[in-house]
Amino acid sequence: MTVYIDEDECIGCGTCEEICPEVFKLDLDIEKAAVIMPEGGPEELIEEAIDSCPASCIYEEE
Ligand code: SF4
Repeated sequence: MTVYIDEDECIGCGTCEEICPEVFKLDLDIEKAAVIMPEGGPEELIEEAIDSCPASCIYEEE
């Protein structure tokens, strides 16, 4: 699985980082989140972050 964020849609709320800081990191300068560990991390928390993202801009790909 590869995790990625559509940065154009990200509103910089920080929810993903709060839920799963191992994988997501909010860049405060540009107010966008980035994926810092695209190929790993706790699957359950990644799923929770995807479900909790208000902009629905976190994706997972095989
Ligand atoms: S939860 Fe979604 S909108 Fe919020 S910072 Fe993360 S990717 Fe961006």
